[in-house]
Order: sequence, then C-alpha cells, then structure tokens
Amino acid sequence: MPLSPGDLEQRPSSLHGMGVFTKRAVKRGEVALVMRGLIVHAKDLPDDMRALQIGWELWLAEDPANPHLDDFINHACAPNLGYADGSLAMVALRDIAAGEELTWHYATSIADAGWNIPCKCGAPECAGQITGFEGLPAAEQERLRPIALDFLRAPRPRPSPATP
Ligand SMILES: [Zn+2]
Repeated sequence: MPLSPGDLEQRPSSLHGMGVFTKRAVKRGEVALVMRGLIVHAKDLPDDMRALQIGWELWLAEDPANPHLDDFINHACAPNLGYADGSLAMVALRDIAAGEELTWHYATSIADAGWNIPCKCGAPECAGQITGFEGLPAAEQERLRPIALDFLRAPRPRPSPATP
C-alpha cells in the first residue's frame, strides 16, 4: 500500500534544506507514492511553481488547493525511489527503513539539457551537478532510463514537417 500522508514527515535533510522522510518501512518493489498535481502545458507553467515534467510539453504542477509532501522530495543521484514502470508511481528501488529520507532523481522527469542544479548527495554516481535528461552523458541516460518517466524512454519526437 502506498504511503499515506500520515506516514510522511518533513524535516531538515543532510542533502538539501528540508526533506521528506518515511515513518514506516517500504519494501523494494512497493509503490511508495503516486505523484499528483495539476496537469499544465509547458507554456502555462509559472516559473515559481514546483512541478515535474511528464511529457515533452506537459508538466504536473503542485496544486495549491491540495498540497502534498510529494512536491518536496529531494533529488539524489542514487535515489531510493524511481518511476520503475514509467508511470507516475514512485517505486522503492531498494528496501527503505522507517526514518529514511525519500529521494528520486530529478532528471528522470526533467528533460531540458539547459536545466541544472548543484548536487552534493555524495553518491559515487554524483558529478556535483545534474542537468535535465537530455544534457546527461549517454551512460548516465542509460543508467536512469529504467527509472525514468515513459516519455524519456523513447527518442524525442521530431517536430512534424511544416506543410507547404
Ligand atoms: Zn548527487
């Protein structure tokens, strides 16, 4: 059963600012959370909104009327959650103990090569910063593809040719 809001708590993180922690253990392969929010077209997405990219032109933005802690989960380069079946279900990639911080890899959702954030997660995989999926080295894309959202698992569609 996915974690309920009562199973989650927000407190200071060793990774970055505040993190989201689980109060109960999650077994590898279990769905921990299903990401929720408002589906917004890229052109309508406000800059200051927490959002994850769910398609080449679509984002899932936080719903101010219905806030969830899943909007606040930190990035880690060796995360304990991932989109293992390509859907918005966040699956535990290993056994997660009660009290552990939940993390996912932001480049498994954000595509833009121009996007980047510094990272000090300390994982052996950590290059000190991450970019969107399309800006990552091929080997890193290969590593992340099995835990990325569906739209990132196939090549970016070419724009349809202009009709004369
Ligand atoms: Zn890192």
